[in-house]
Amino acid sequence: MAPVGGVNELASMSGLQRFEKGVGNLTSVGEFLVNEHCIDCDLCRQIAPETFKRKSAGMGGHSYVARQPNNAFELKKATEALESCPVGAIQHAMAEMLAAA
Ligand code: SF4
Repeated sequence: MAPVGGVNELASMSGLQRFEKGVGNLTSVGEFLVNEHCIDCDLCRQIAPETFKRKSAGMGGHSYVARQPNNAFELKKATEALESCPVGAIQHAMAEMLAAA
């Protein structure tokens, strides 16, 4: 299997802007990111507050990945947030790479 590129490479390939890189220990299963389509609805931050935080930007704001999931529970909640985002603004590097293969 070819090495999996980093999430910045993925974001570049998909033409999406990456707001912020979170840090954490589960890089072997991929990284979460929030793209520019975030509408600041707060849902992901309610579901997975350890992973997603809010950043103010001008008159509004957006979510970003403050820290990649560090354990199975956080990974489960971050995945739930990804699946619940109303505009599909949360992406996961490994899932994207596998879908593109
Ligand atoms: S759930 Fe999606 S749209 Fe809502 S704040 Fe999180 S990333 Fe943004």
